[in-house]
Amino acid sequence: MFIELVDALRCPRAHEESWLVLATSRIRARHIQEGALGCPVCRAEYPIRDGIVDLRLDDARSVSRAEPARVDSGVVDDVPADHLAAMLNLSDALGFAVLVGEWGRHADALLALEPMPPLLLVDPPEGIAMAPGLSGVRAGSALPLAVGAARAVAVDDTDTERLASAAQATRAGGRLVAPARASIPDGVRELARTERLWVGEREAHPSALVRLHVRRG
Ligand SMILES: [Zn+2]
Repeated sequence: MFIELVDALRCPRAHEESWLVLATSRIRARHIQEGALGCPVCRAEYPIRDGIVDLRLDDARSVSRAEPARVDSGVVDDVPADHLAAMLNLSDALGFAVLVGEWGRHADALLALEPMPPLLLVDPPEGIAMAPGLSGVRAGSALPLAVGAARAVAVDDTDTERLASAAQATRAGGRLVAPARASIPDGVRELARTERLWVGEREAHPSALVRLHVRRG
């Protein structure tokens, strides 16, 4: 877990949105290898092992995420990494992009393309090791991310809660990619569609607070 991405993570429990605090840690090259994140609101602690933060609630840790909504991985296999980078508009190294589930299998190939922003893998596939530029979280259905935190998100399943949270987590103007069978969540405008997937663009967040800066003097 890249230390700068901790700011974008949110406690998954049902209370007001809260950032997380790094409790204990072993850090190498600004990536947290082992440790824990704590929630200052509900006092929950989330372990970090092998660079992956486990943000699942206790009852979800004993069982892995339900599979029925998952789409065949052919959607992911059909898309070369450079096409995925283009669909997600990853043409510079600013911010970070999120790869959900099987899309994480493209992480190494994406990182070989430069420039490339840091990548956050949600529920990374087996056998993908975290490395510089690569962070991981395990999550429930909703992505545990701050509103508008990510520049782009690729989702590999059709779970409506996951898609809605992916739309929330994407900044205005940012891209979303999801399987064609997934319905397009609120706040996302379809840009392109193939037999296997669609590409959308996040519209402005209507609920976002507008902060007025008054210049004095
Ligand atoms: Zn909490």
